[in-house]
Parts: sequence; structure tokens; C-alpha cells
Amino acid sequence: MTFEVVKDLSAGLYFFNGKRQTIQGSETFPVYEARSGEVVAQCPSADAAHVDKIVDLAAEAQPQWGRLTPIERGKVLNRVADLIRQHLEELAVWEVKTNGKPITEARIDIEASADMFQFYAGVAPAVLKGDYFDLPSENQTRFAYTRREPLGVVGCIGAWNYPFLLCVWKIAPALAGGNAVVFKPSPFAPASPVLLGELLKAAGLPDGVYNVVQGEGKTGEALCLNEKIAKVSFTGSVGTGKLVQQNCAKRSVKPVTLELGGKSPLIIFEDAEISNAISASILANFFNQGEVCTNATRVFVHNSLVEKYTGELLEVLKKLQVGDPLHEETKVGATINEPHLKRVLGFVERAQAQGAKVLRGGQRVHPEGVEKGFYFDPAVITNLKDDMEIVKDEIFGAVLLILPFEDEAEVIQRANNTSYGLAAGLYTKDVGRAHRVAAKLQAGTVGTKQQNQPYEIFGCKITYALGMLVEHTVWLQNSKPAQFLSIPTTIAM
Ligand code: NAD
Repeated sequence: MTFEVVKDLSAGLYFFNGKRQTIQGSETFPVYEARSGEVVAQCPSADAAHVDKIVDLAAEAQPQWGRLTPIERGKVLNRVADLIRQHLEELAVWEVKTNGKPITEARIDIEASADMFQFYAGVAPAVLKGDYFDLPSENQTRFAYTRREPLGVVGCIGAWNYPFLLCVWKIAPALAGGNAVVFKPSPFAPASPVLLGELLKAAGLPDGVYNVVQGEGKTGEALCLNEKIAKVSFTGSVGTGKLVQQNCAKRSVKPVTLELGGKSPLIIFEDAEISNAISASILANFFNQGEVCTNATRVFVHNSLVEKYTGELLEVLKKLQVGDPLHEETKVGATINEPHLKRVLGFVERAQAQGAKVLRGGQRVHPEGVEKGFYFDPAVITNLKDDMEIVKDEIFGAVLLILPFEDEAEVIQRANNTSYGLAAGLYTKDVGRAHRVAAKLQAGTVGTKQQNQPYEIFGCKITYALGMLVEHTVWLQNSKPAQFLSIPTTIAM
């Protein structure tokens, strides 16, 4: 198994027929490196005809892959996991260049991606099994059983904040279930799924089973409308998610998984261990430049702690290094692109105009050596009202909002005052309160631990795990509507 990580994008950003290639498209989009602000490639966008052709190739390839047993497919996925680990450092550097996140975080994403392939290789044989039912009959002569079958070709549409890992979250379970995949990344971070194509090929995945198309909204729409696409898995904003769901029901009726945005609360009660709560707040807001769906941007702090919390937080943040994401000591890298940086800055400016007070950051910065990149100094903001735009809408940037509160009932009501409900976190030493409040928070996941473990602090990280489990259940268990067969009594035992 020989494999070399690509050195540049010159061979194209499409992946089909088992190799990297390009297409002749009438429209192109620029591919930016967030870290340096440079355009590193021009990529043609796929129109509906291109998408349909690549879906056809996937449809041709899928039956052979789908006929393999889960254990045979798992061998390929395990080999991908091995290859990822062998090339972890080179892949992490690519991820930094693709997205702008610090190298220390990119390594975590790549390692987690290897774990995902290994996990689904292992879990698929256990999950992909049918059921057996006895039917009413004399002498037990009638019975029924279900079989698990792949859906066929599935369409995946990704966001840009975890380009490699997010692609793996979708494709590892889909491939383990015997499906073929056509993946459309965000045009803001198009390279990672192509690297994955090369890894899958080297691990022995048959040509045509995994494919990457590139483009913006129109390309995604063509994927949703294609009648050979049996299911769509989407990650992105709420607005786009609604369009995806509509388009998936336009020509045919196909199932959709939507993983959308958030505006999560983190509640710090009066008995919280303050240094843990501060670490949690930083991780929940500034990890990945704040470009995390589960970011706990609304930090509710008990009135009795606000002064101490704010003072200590600002002190800790004096050491926060914003800079070249390839440097080991960098904690906050580059925002994905210029328009998104302006979007984040716009939220801060409008909040200030409405009376909010910026205690630190909130401006564009130009770190030495990467001056043209898209860097934002993480903001801490106070003097807010719950009905301000910055408190209500998803920013998807490094902006921590301090919202004082007085009592439990009040903070639960305010924390729940959002249409997102993706995640929540709370800090208290009172276990009874932790369970009571967690039960009342309307969020997909609530983190209630005091310990400073990344996935516990986030609450958010747990959400990823749960979202992923939902995803794998959907792919593996609903691989196809189960067939329900009744065996005629004449041949039944
Ligand atoms: P986005 O909605 O702008 O785009 C997401 C993807 O949809 C992109 O690939 C885009 O090209 C594509 N797209 C755009 N229009 C389309 C259409 N009409 N039909 C089909 N596809 C279309 O989101 P984004 O800016 O890329 O990502 C940020 C959003 O993603 C945030 O809201 C964030 O919270 C969310 N997100 C959620 C999760 C989760 O697991 N819940 C994870 C990561 C990001």
C-alpha cells in the first residue's frame, strides 16, 4: 500500500473514476488559503450535467461495493485509518492551509478521522443485521425477517469549519453501509475531501464508490435534485438546510439528515469552580476561531461572580496568541475568508452601536509573517441585552458574550430563548441542580461536568458525538427501508 500526500492542487479538485481530476466548467471560484490570504487555485464549478454524470459513475460502481460483507468493507476502512495515522502530520498541515485552524487542533481532527474509520469498520458488522419475527400460525410455520441493504448512491454536502473530519463523519458510516458517495464540500475549503479520495483509493476502495464534486449552491442543488441520489446528508446553516430539505422532495422523495447552526448557552452558577469555568468559556468560544456550530457564545454568569469571572478571564486572555496557525504556540488561527471576517466584525460593530461594551479584541489583526491572512482578535463583550442581534443570531466567530443572571428559573428561561437548541453547558458543584437544570435546557446535548476535559467543557463536543451517532444510525440502520418477507408455509420449517 503506497501512498503519498499530494503536494499541490494542480491535478484538480474533483475526484471520480478513482483519481483526482478537473472538469471543463463555465464558472469558477477562487480557492483561498486563509492563513496567508492568497488565492491558491481556481476551481471550476460543476453544473447539473456534471453532477448527473458523476452520480451515474457512482451508481455503476455501488453494487459491487454493496455486495461485499461489512467485514470485507471494514478491511478497507481500517486500512484508511492506518494510512491517515501514518501521514497525520502532512494531512494536518493541509488542514491548516485549507481552513486556517491552528496546527495543534488540526492534528486532533486528523487523529479523530482515523478513529472514525476504525469505529465504523468495527461497528458495521454488528449493526448491519436484520430481525426475525414469528408470525401467527399453527405449529410455528410462518415467520418473517428483515434484511439490511445499502441505499445506493448518497449525496453529502459539507460546511467549511472541519473540512476533513466533517467529510469523514459523513462518508465513513455511508461507506461502511455499502453505499457509494458523491461529496460536495464547501467552496471555502474544497481540498480535504479530495485528499480523502486518494487515501481511500490507496486503501483499496473500488473506483467510482467515492467521488467529489465542487461548486457553490447550484452544485449542491443539482445533487439534491438528482433522482439517483437516495439520501442527502447536509451540514451547514439553517437557511440552506431548509432549501436542501425542499429540493430533496421536489423530484423524488428522499431522506435528509440536517446538521445545522447553533447559539448555545454556557451557564456558570455561583458555586462553580471559576478557573474551570473560565477554561471552559475560552474553549467553548475561541476553539477553531469560534467557527464551531456548538459554540457556547452566550455565557450566563451569576451576578455574584461577574466581576471576578470577567477580571480573571481578561487576565488569562492576555496570553492568547493569535497568529500563523502553522506555529505550535498559536491558539487562534485565521478566519476562513475575508467576507466571513467582515461578517464577524459587523456583528461586533452593530452591537457596539447598540450600547454593548467590548472588553477586549473584536478587531482585525495582521500577525507578523501572515499579514494578508484573515485574522480576528477574539472578543469579550458585555453590557448586552437578550434581544440584541449579537445575542440572538449565530456569529460563527470568536465572540464571547457575558450575560449576568440572578436565579435558576430566570437563566433557564433565557438560555432556552433561542430557536437553535443545539447544545448547552453548565457549571455548578451541586449535582442535584446539574441534573435538574440539564433536564430543563432545550438543547440536543447538555454538558454538566466540572472537570476540565475538552468534551465535557464544551458540552458542544458531546453534541458532535451524538450527532454522529444519529448519523451512523441513519446510514447503517436505515440503509434501505427494511424488506419484510413472509415465507410461504410450504417452504417454512
Ligand atoms: P452554508 O449553509 O452556507 O453552506 C453549507 C453547504 O451548503 C456548502 O457546501 C454550500 O456550498 C452548500 N449550499 C449552499 N446553497 C445550497 C443549496 N441551495 N443547496 C445545496 N447546498 C447548498 O453553511 P456554511 O457557511 O458552509 O457553514 C456554517 C454553518 O454550518 C453554520 O451555521 C454552522 O453552525 C453549521 N455547522 C453545523 C454543524 C453541525 O454538526 N450541526 C457542523 C458544522 C457547521
